[in-house]
Amino acid sequence: MLFADIDILDENLDLQTHRWVGVRDGHIAYLGKQAPAGAEAEAYGEVYDGRGKLLVPAFYNAHAHAPMTLLRGYAENLPLQAWLNDMVWPFEAKMTPEDNYWATLLACAEMARYGVVSFSDMYYATDERVRAVVESGLKANICESELYFEPKPFADYASCAAVEEYVRKYHGAADGRILIDYNIHAEYTSNPQTCKDIAAVVKEKGLRMHLHASETKSEHEECKQRHDGLTPLQYFASIGVLDVPTTAAHCTWCEPADFDLMVEKGVFAAANPASNMKLGSGYAPIPAMLEAGVNVCLGTDGMASNNNHDMMQDLYLLALLYKGSTGDPSVVTPKQALAAATRMGALSQGREDCGLVRAGMKADLAVLDVTGPSWAPRTNPLVNMVYAGHGSDVVLTMSDGAVVYRDGAYPGIDVERAKAEVETRTKRIISEV
Ligand SMILES: [Zn+2]
Repeated sequence: MLFADIDILDENLDLQTHRWVGVRDGHIAYLGKQAPAGAEAEAYGEVYDGRGKLLVPAFYNAHAHAPMTLLRGYAENLPLQAWLNDMVWPFEAKMTPEDNYWATLLACAEMARYGVVSFSDMYYATDERVRAVVESGLKANICESELYFEPKPFADYASCAAVEEYVRKYHGAADGRILIDYNIHAEYTSNPQTCKDIAAVVKEKGLRMHLHASETKSEHEECKQRHDGLTPLQYFASIGVLDVPTTAAHCTWCEPADFDLMVEKGVFAAANPASNMKLGSGYAPIPAMLEAGVNVCLGTDGMASNNNHDMMQDLYLLALLYKGSTGDPSVVTPKQALAAATRMGALSQGREDCGLVRAGMKADLAVLDVTGPSWAPRTNPLVNMVYAGHGSDVVLTMSDGAVVYRDGAYPGIDVERAKAEVETRTKRIISEV
């Protein structure tokens, strides 16, 4: 495809007007002020009229639980522990592998619709999740969850052999769209002995870790009581877990000493502002983390605590809420927020060649229709995007050069079937719990 005469946010997220962007073999092959020369232009195939559009890097959702789409609207107005123990876990116990497949497929549709091309997904049913993501055309870093309450070698847990098999089958599958990460759900659902073993395995394999840390105040404080004053991240560091590339979701209650540790270890903090607010977990110290130099990325979390995969809503919250919570309107600039939702998310997934509109990068792009009333005047389209834009402004989403959403159509997904399956399956599960 050749995007013709289109405004873009470039690799520095600066506006460039009237550009030509050529996509070939999954990559941005051409970016210029003029159309490529005749014969070369034809090699890109379809010419996309870019007038009235804004081309931006697509979003990378750094923390999700895609199958939890089934739980949208099911567990409301509850604090985290009651939400988990009384509602979420009993519901999840009734979910079949096929339930996970259909919920993931619908999550992929929703994400594609809102400009997301890739997500880091922590859940069960890896085979079914991988199948859904591959079909959808999106990408994902998939990790298989297990709760490690009992102190015993990792090898004695079922997930040890299972994840090894997933790595063998899926890591790098679909031209690298699928990557397999390792997972420790959280400090409070695991034990040091098993976690040390897992860290050693991840290090040996050269893979990545995705975990929850300091989501709630009680989790953070109870960890300190259990581990001689160590916060969850300090505890994980003490047993070697942060010696591998790690995404730590939430970090809501992290302390200044944690920020230094995250910078030292290169940990990615996945902010989930909507989820943290909805569950009353608090406000992560994102301005202080950015100030300290922590890698901040952005996630939607699961649909029981958000309740949507519209990254532009989380983007809006990330840029806005800290101005209110700190009383300082200069914190978290629109550009910092957008970088968290794009390039930093790609890096958190180990996707170095993704997340920037630059020749040679993977063609992971979102096109926004900027002709609506909330986009005028065009004094600063980046600021318009963050504070006045909506996910529904996305009219085209491209993942590795392939269109995964365009003008209401989903090339890899039967979205009507996915919606109907999710509806039926959710009713069945609710009748069983
Ligand atoms: Zn989570």
